Amino acid sequence: MDATPSYLEQLIAGGLLLPTGVAGLYGRSQIFERVVEAIDALVTRTGGGDGAEVLRFPPGLSRRDFEDSEYLKSFPQLAGTVHSFCGDERAHREVLRCIEVGEDWTRDQAATDIVLTPAACYPVYPVLARRGALPEAGYLIDVQSYCFRHEPSLEPTRMQMFRMREYVRIGTPEQVTGFRALWLERGEALVRTLALPHIVDVANDPFFGRAGRVLADSQRVQKLKFELLIPVNSTAQPTACLSFNYHMDHFGQIWKLAGRDGATAHTACVGFGLERTALALFRHHGFEPAHWPSPVQSVLWPSA
Ligand code: ATP
Ligand code: ZN
Repeated sequence: MDATPSYLEQLIAGGLLLPTGVAGLYGRSQIFERVVEAIDALVTRTGGGDGAEVLRFPPGLSRRDFEDSEYLKSFPQLAGTVHSFCGDERAHREVLRCIEVGEDWTRDQAATDIVLTPAACYPVYPVLARRGALPEAGYLIDVQSYCFRHEPSLEPTRMQMFRMREYVRIGTPEQVTGFRALWLERGEALVRTLALPHIVDVANDPFFGRAGRVLADSQRVQKLKFELLIPVNSTAQPTACLSFNYHMDHFGQIWKLAGRDGATAHTACVGFGLERTALALFRHHGFEPAHWPSPVQSVLWPSA
């Protein structure tokens, strides 16, 4: 038997993550949050000169927008919907009875108009589409959100609720591909300043089912997704901490995002996994940020 505690067990023993009894759902300690906030601020300093519009949404999407997004076509296995009790007093008594005797109490829960946000950029497209034609320069949006993905795991890097910080670019193919190329460089430079080992590689999303394999292959062949991977867990497989996605005109078509000339907009986003990057820092530099290499501390806390 392997007596070495897993990285998750070490994080829990060290008090950085607080278990809840559900795989992938954790509380965060003050130190953990300080690191997450510092990474978020570092991303802001890195992209801050570009004049992005800051938008923040609660971690829910309107069900209508979620349906339109076609997320369920590609990732039905990951989606989370919000349900609520909508019954009468008799149904309420039944819920309480079920809980009392350990039976399923969720039968009378009905879907609300809210679906949990699967990626921080999802609420952005429909909201901007409602503004009408794109401005000449397109849009550059700074967004951050807790996201939900139903992928319970004992790897601490695969949480069910986690934060994604993104920059989103909406515009012509040239504007959008230029943005992604710039962030591929910036992302790698940022991770280098954090003294984290990494590689950048083409990637694909976990599209569902047999048809999904075709989509995943085509995404790789067209190099639509790159990931910056850092070894974090005990397994040989490094973890995607940053993603660089080019959606071509997929969201433009869905949301009818178009310029004044009627040309459908292209979109791209760069996503920073805030917890994953924090977990990479704890893995490589130890559980006590005050003992991290001083160049890394000065990058994260420049005014300290
Ligand atoms: P993976 O391939 O590991 O499932 P992904 O490619 O699906 O990740 P994206 O959809 O590109 O991830 O999400 C953007 C970023 O959000 C990722 O680069 C990662 O840092 C972070 N992220 C994605 N899924 C999780 C998760 N389950 N827990 C924590 N962070 C995550
Ligand atoms: Zn995105």
